[in-house]
Amino acid sequence: MDLGIKGRKAIVCAASKGLGKGCARALAAEGVSLVVNARGAEALEATAAEIRADFGVSVVAIAADVTTAEGRAALLKACPDPDILVNNAGGPPPGDFRAWDEKAWHSAVEANMVTPIMLIRATIDSMIARKFGRIVNITSAAVKNPIANLGLSNGARAGLTGFVAGLSRQVAKHNVTINGLLPGPFETDRLRSVFAAGSKSSGRPVDALREERRLANPAERFGTTEEFGAACAFLCSAHAGFVVGQNIVLDGGAFPGTL
Ligand code: NAP
Repeated sequence: MDLGIKGRKAIVCAASKGLGKGCARALAAEGVSLVVNARGAEALEATAAEIRADFGVSVVAIAADVTTAEGRAALLKACPDPDILVNNAGGPPPGDFRAWDEKAWHSAVEANMVTPIMLIRATIDSMIARKFGRIVNITSAAVKNPIANLGLSNGARAGLTGFVAGLSRQVAKHNVTINGLLPGPFETDRLRSVFAAGSKSSGRPVDALREERRLANPAERFGTTEEFGAACAFLCSAHAGFVVGQNIVLDGGAFPGTL
């Protein structure tokens, strides 16, 4: 299926690895030119080169921390009027809520709520003017099904989700959509670091924890970044203008609800 976005411009945040990279590759496969971002320049440049070689699209790499005002300004300077914005950043650390002081909360809210809102604020009016815009926020399955030791993530991402629930209904008439993609377990560096931390605290081998988690999922596997990217590309497609303010869980069926 032709997604109808060839020649469009996208900013994909936090995209040198993992889910962001999966989204960048899937958009590039559709002929979208990209501005990609991550803090580490080496991995980012390697990803940008790989995408250029594989898909022949323009890829501008901006090495910056997207959770800072300066980082966001650098991204917007490279692409002030994107047609597509994929919001993403690293997730907050796990822990016990008693350990999270005001500073920890401010930094989680800054990274996983304020950052995407500021990028939406900076780009949405030009999308409205052009009558085309697609915004995808990468959040977490924990927005729907909270994970107790990821309270900073549960809280900050739920704040973003609540805000865009209202905004998405204000802009839908301009063919501008905002939706959330909620990943369950995808085997990326992030998930591998969760297993490593679990192994350290429990004394159990990483492989045993990984296997336990895999078998606990109805699909008996982890998601792939290609699957995640494909879902993102569809939400960014010309065909998805009637998908408004939705939060799509990609978790292999782990959330047990009927709806
Ligand atoms: P990942 O494989 O560790 O990749 C994270 C990417 O984001 C890297 O390219 C990293 O590059 C970049 N990044 C991190 N912090 C950044 C920042 N402040 N500014 C710019 N770039 C930044 O992680 P992932 O699994 O793709 O996770 C992506 C998001 O989905 C995270 O918020 C994570 O919590 C969430 N999530 C993931 C899963 C999962 O199973 N994988 C499940 C639920 C939620 P640099 O480090 O070089 O900046």
